[in-house]
Amino acid sequence: MLCPGGDPDRSCESCRRALHAFHPDLLNVQPEGVQIRVDRVREAIAFGAGKPYESARRVVRIARAEILGPEAANALLKSLEEPGAQLHWILTTTRPESLLATIRSRCLAAPVASGTRSDRVREWQARGFDAEDAADLAILLPGAEEKEARERLEEARRFRSDAIEALAAGLLDRKIASLVLLAERLGRAEPAELTSFIELLADAALAAAGVSAELFSHRAAAGPLVQIGRRIGSAALTKAVRVAADHPPDTRRGNRRLHFEMVLLELWLAASSTR
Ligand SMILES: [Zn+2]
Repeated sequence: MLCPGGDPDRSCESCRRALHAFHPDLLNVQPEGVQIRVDRVREAIAFGAGKPYESARRVVRIARAEILGPEAANALLKSLEEPGAQLHWILTTTRPESLLATIRSRCLAAPVASGTRSDRVREWQARGFDAEDAADLAILLPGAEEKEARERLEEARRFRSDAIEALAAGLLDRKIASLVLLAERLGRAEPAELTSFIELLADAALAAAGVSAELFSHRAAAGPLVQIGRRIGSAALTKAVRVAADHPPDTRRGNRRLHFEMVLLELWLAASSTR
């Protein structure tokens, strides 16, 4: 936003100063203590009303916008609605659901991936989740907001344990009906559930190739995944991962269910041939 040339490497003088927060047209509003006070917001509004020194606009970035105090949030509303041509507000938060509805409705939401899986585990722990919950949240509900995380963690765990149980029953105990039911469930699964399922297959493929369970995405399910890996072999599992990941984007005419029926049937046949 502040770069005069739009350089993709962010290497120009202007970009480097913005990245180090030394840009005359950039103001960072940082919380002091447990609240962002109204004075800070008033200063930011005054800064935003000034003429840009060297860029096409001025940018104010508010860190941890969820702790804007009520008075500060109200002071911000008018400028958020009509910032003028030369001012751009950026509000960052890890808890968008905690912003006032009136603020949210005046912003354009842009989700930003938050680092690696171990970063996400640390973030959930910092918000008071224990180690086991934090680890599961980081993998089962990446990008979830806190409210959603609390509501959906158990459901996401149940999906994972049901999926493993169905895979084990179908591929180890030869109960094809459980694979048909699993395909039906996958046919109406949420994106995060599909990702979890594909990761389970990928873990089984790793197991088949002799990779240690330490490196699995779903270490909690290592036991059955190793057994499935040994039974099916890495070639069939690797192919299943690739095909499963290429699932149809929508569920029209049951096409996604059919897609997963084919994936699981191929695995079932592979399990039969290696008995
Ligand atoms: Zn630049």
